[in-house]
Amino acid sequence: MDAPCDRQHLLGTSLDEFAASCEDCGMPPYRAQQVFEWVYAKGAHDFAAMTNLSKPLREQWARQWIVRTATVDRRQISTDGTVKLLLRWPDGAASECVLIPDGRRRTACISSQVGCPVGCAFCASGLNGLQRQLSAGEIVEQVMHVRDLCEPRTPEASAPPGTPPLPEPARLSNIVVMGLGEPLANYAALLRALRIINAPWGPDIGARSITVSTVGLPTQIRRLAKEGLQINLAVSLHAPEDKLRGRLIPWAKRVPIEELVAAGREYYETTHRELTIEYILLDGVNDQPEHATQLVKICRQMRCNVNLIKYNPVPGLPFDRPKTFAVQKFVERLRERGVNVHIRKSRGLDIDAACGQLRRSTLAR
Ligand code: SF4
Repeated sequence: MDAPCDRQHLLGTSLDEFAASCEDCGMPPYRAQQVFEWVYAKGAHDFAAMTNLSKPLREQWARQWIVRTATVDRRQISTDGTVKLLLRWPDGAASECVLIPDGRRRTACISSQVGCPVGCAFCASGLNGLQRQLSAGEIVEQVMHVRDLCEPRTPEASAPPGTPPLPEPARLSNIVVMGLGEPLANYAALLRALRIINAPWGPDIGARSITVSTVGLPTQIRRLAKEGLQINLAVSLHAPEDKLRGRLIPWAKRVPIEELVAAGREYYETTHRELTIEYILLDGVNDQPEHATQLVKICRQMRCNVNLIKYNPVPGLPFDRPKTFAVQKFVERLRERGVNVHIRKSRGLDIDAACGQLRRSTLAR
């Protein structure tokens, strides 16, 4: 169980673990069920809200447990409905999570670490390095904060004035672990959090609606494949050959693309979930026809689709958004050669859209 502050974080705890703790205190296990219904089904933020439980009982739990530990430090709302939150944890660390509405779909993009140890050359998150890991409870808590935005269940969870109205139904449908950090470098906390997020007594998000994005740690990819979860894996390739990839993603210097492809193939063979190759197009760097041709060769080695992302420029970094015609040519080259390719819609361009930007602009203040 997590201990993000002096009390234990309920959101990082399974129902069984909490039931065992209740039993240790002489309470029947159904009490745990009642508390979890308040937290997940009714969206209670603290024990005080659990009004059908006796006051002494609530006070007893509140001395030992905490439901939510973060405060919302900043909130940015885009004209396209994207809402970005900067959460402040009790130790002062800050991390980002985002609600991305798209048609009937509501996606929460959450972080796995505070900062990031990878240091990709084009990314705001890596600029200040890794501050610390997020605990499982903190990873789950981000989901709950985002869920509050699109399906408020308690008065305190209501979206603030100015939030663009969201069409019905507004159930949080998808999770992407694509915010700050390298999720597979925080493996134990990530796995615990994913199991809670997926649990029927928890946020109850289907495994097939959860995507973990990684720069590619082959050992952890193989391990994840054997966890018995049907989650989607997205591999951030960003360059189709090792030298360029090593320049863009420092950790890639240790992992040749060939090794990554082998791990990706194993992931598909074990889980039967098709991989997504993420490829961020940087003007004049990795968006040329020869890069598309090299990418096709990689795609032919495993069952995958390609998600192209047009770069959102980060102030102070020497990369630009790709030209429209270069993106079109790149897509055509891939499609003509049978690759299933999508261009990710740019969202929240009028707010600090790129991952890590809101946190960084706050740190800079
Ligand atoms: S792109 Fe991802 S892995 Fe790379 S520095 Fe940013 S957060 Fe880390």
